[in-house]
Order: sequence, then structure tokens, then C-alpha cells
Amino acid sequence: MIHVNPDLTEFSYIVAVGLFILALKWLSSPATARRGVLAGEIGAALAVLTTFFNPTLVQYRWILVALIVGAIIGIPLGMVHMTAVPQRTALSHAFGALAAATIGIAEYYVRFPNLTRFGMTEISLEVIIGALSFTGSLIAAGKLQEFLPQRPITYKGQNIVSFCTLGAAIVIALIMIVEPGRFPALFPAMVIVSLLFGVMLVTPIGGADMPTVIALLNSYVGLSAALLGFVLDSKVLVVAGALDGSSGFILAVIMCKAMNRSFTNVLFGAFGQLQVSAAAAQEDRTVRSASPEEAAGILAASNSVIVIPGYGMAVAQAQHKVRELFDTLGKKGVDVRFAIHPVAGRMPGHMNVLLAEADIPYDKLIDMESANSDLPHTDVALIIGANDVTNPAAKTDQGSPIYGMPIIEADKARTVMVIKRSLSPGFAGIDNGLYYMDKTLMLFGDARAFVGDIVRELGGEGH
Ligand code: NDP
Repeated sequence: MIHVNPDLTEFSYIVAVGLFILALKWLSSPATARRGVLAGEIGAALAVLTTFFNPTLVQYRWILVALIVGAIIGIPLGMVHMTAVPQRTALSHAFGALAAATIGIAEYYVRFPNLTRFGMTEISLEVIIGALSFTGSLIAAGKLQEFLPQRPITYKGQNIVSFCTLGAAIVIALIMIVEPGRFPALFPAMVIVSLLFGVMLVTPIGGADMPTVIALLNSYVGLSAALLGFVLDSKVLVVAGALDGSSGFILAVIMCKAMNRSFTNVLFGAFGQLQVSAAAAQEDRTVRSASPEEAAGILAASNSVIVIPGYGMAVAQAQHKVRELFDTLGKKGVDVRFAIHPVAGRMPGHMNVLLAEADIPYDKLIDMESANSDLPHTDVALIIGANDVTNPAAKTDQGSPIYGMPIIEADKARTVMVIKRSLSPGFAGIDNGLYYMDKTLMLFGDARAFVGDIVRELGGEGH
């Protein structure tokens, strides 16, 4: 056994916590995000290493086994394609929640029957939240990966059944808290009921609300980890869990605001059910389409262009071609900027990450408010694989499921050009009236190929 001075252990944990706080601060801006990731990684490695040398450890065998299994699962998970990050994140939360729940379960059996009421309260809360977050995150990952139906699965009286299930877990916990040294058979019952509640929590949610649910589950996992920190008397776990939980919660709030949805709406509204048949809405309507050559001519003749990227740019991995377009138009004296909607793509910051990968200067990225005040004086709004975040129905159609969601008002620009493969709807499953306006030109094709063609027509490198 390796023995380390306890003061050094405490000091290392404080440094790790400091690094976590810096990581969150740096992650809040694209300019410093890479530094933030590095700080978080070093902090986590330091916390793990310090725990490894903790004098209270009795043997390393199981820790080594866990490290190897974790690495075998974690390395391929970290390499998934960018568009699969939401489901990958949901899986990470599931593993975090499983870890918190199983350690809580182990603590119960290690301490039983010598449990205090306070200790039992900590363990019950931690295990309930950990268990429900585990199954909830698994369902979320399954829905996003389309192993499970994406639409909300609902039935009459569902909310009552779900609340009763959660209520049952709480009642069992209360009985064990009153008599902590008795009724050991109730403990597995509490775990099973909590696991069941996690499934019930996420199955009625679907469509565009899933990423928000993932952020909420993130906050539950953080809370569970913080509670586990109290159970194990580990300050680093309390702080890391609290940071994780609060940042997940703030993220969920930001996403709800950007979609003009309330928490209760997300959790109980069954958003995806409201989707209308976009195909039916498209009947009898005509659109104007244009070729890469025509699009290049209009872009070259304009003074100002606002590019509005969306999920399709991520799917097509078009960001490097978009950079070529930015360079080529820049050389022709065209002012090109990028309007970023907070929920464009499938996770917050999705577009920022892609554009940063292609080295688009940060000062060319503008937020939704600035874009909306500039669009009426802009020659071309060039939409690349975005749909819902530009849909005017959010402002005009009270019956639309996205009514009230703030949008980038591309319809205000002098000319609108939309690169997408078809008239298919976006994530919310609704038709977009923007495509049928007189000033709109549809540029049908894969975003990477089409932008490449425009660049070639403009005399840049293209393909
Ligand atoms: P959308 O999902 O609304 O639309 C994306 C469009 O991209 C589709 O209409 C599709 O049309 C097009 N597309 C797909 N593949 C390609 C390709 N290879 N080349 C060109 N176009 C392509 O995306 P938005 O970014 O506009 O909106 C994001 C949606 O996700 C919103 O509804 C938002 O509420 C939701 N959401 C996002 C969150 C976030 O954090 N970012 C969180 C929660 C929800 P076609 O098939 O015709 O090509």
C-alpha cells in the first residue's frame, strides 16, 4: 500500500475542484473552450489519481478492473460522430448515474444494520435519484439513437401513475429512514421502483424536447453524485456533483428559453404528439429553385450575407466548405457573418463547435438578437441545413407546436437562399412557410456538395 500525507490528499482535491470551476468558466466561450476541456481533464485525472493513493484504500485490484472496463467502453464512445453526441452524452449520464446508485447500494449493505436516520436519508435520496437517472438516461439514449420510437409514448392517466410510482419510492424510503436498522427487504424494492420511475419519466417525452431532457438528467446525476459525496464524506465529490448538477440545470433553462418552453411543458407536454403532417401542408404549393451557378452570381453581387447554419450542416460535415465560401466571398469584398441560434443543431453550441473546427473567426459569429436587427438590411440570408430555427410559423401561427420559439428572422433579408436536400421538415416535424415566399430560392442538394459547387462557380477551389 502506498501512503500519502492526508494534507497532500486534501490539497490535491482542492486543486482538482479549482480546475473544474475554471473548466466551466472557460467552456462558456468558444475562444477559451479548448482550454476549458483541458482543465476539466486534468482536474478529473488529478482527482482519480489522488483517490488512488488515498491511505484508506485497502486494495487496488477492483479499481484496476474498473479502470480497464471503463477505458474499453469510454474510448470508442468518445470517438462517435458529432451528430451522435446527444445520445452519447445520455449514455455517459447513464453510466454516471449507475456508478452513483451502485456505490450508494453498496454503502447500505456495508453499513447495515448500523445506520443512522441521517445516513439512511442521504443513501435513500442518492439511490432514488441515481437509479431513476440511470434508466431515464438509457431511454433517452435509445430514443435519440432511434432504437426506441422517438415520439412520446403516452396513455390516459399517465402522470398520475408516474407520480404514484415516485410516491411509492419516497414512502419506502421514509419507512427505512424511521427504522434504519430494520426492513432490509424494502431496500431492493425502493431501487426497483426508482428504476421503473426513470423509464416512466422519459418515455412520454419526445421530439425536440429530448436534448433538454438530457440536460435535466445531467443535473439529476450531478445531484446524485453530490449526495454520494455526503454519504462517503468526500468533499471533491460534493463540489464536482454540485457543479455538474447546477450547470446541467442552467443548460436546461437556456434550452427551454431558446425554445420558449417551460419545464413543466417539457416534462409533461408530450411535444412530439402535436406534429402535423408536413407532407399534407406542402400540397399545391410551389417553390423556386436555383442552381449553384445562379446562387454564386447572386452571392458575388451582394454586399452583405448572413449565413444561418443548422443541423444539416452538421450532418453533411459542410463546415470546411463553408469556410472556403467565406474566404472566397471575403476576397470579393462581400461581408459574410454567421447567425447562431441557441438551439440550432442538436445540442447547445453545436454550430459554434463546427465553425470553430473550420477556423471561422469568432468575431464573425453573431447571436440571434444582433442577426435579427441586421437581417432587414442584409442582401442574402443563406440558410445551410437549418429549418425550424428559421420557421416564421413560430411567430405567426398560434397553432404551430413551435409557436413562441424565438427564431432567426431570415424572411426579413432581401433574398433568402436555403440549402437542403428536399422540402422535408426539420426536427419539430412541421412545414416551413419560408420556402414558398417569392424572395426565397431553394438550393436543393447535400450541404457540403452544394456549397462546394458554389465555391467552384465563384472561382475558389470547390471540390
Ligand atoms: P432542423 O432539424 O429543424 O432542420 C435540419 C434540416 O437539415 C432538415 O430540414 C434537413 O432537410 C436538412 N438536412 C439534413 N441533412 C442535410 C444534408 N446532408 N445537407 C443539407 N441539408 C440537410 O435543424 P435546426 O438546426 O434548424 O433546428 C434544430 C432543432 O432541434 C429545433 O427544432 C430545436 O428546437 C431542436 N433542438 C435543438 C437543441 C439544441 O440544443 N441544439 C436542443 C433541443 C431541441 P432535408 O432532409 O430536406 O435535407
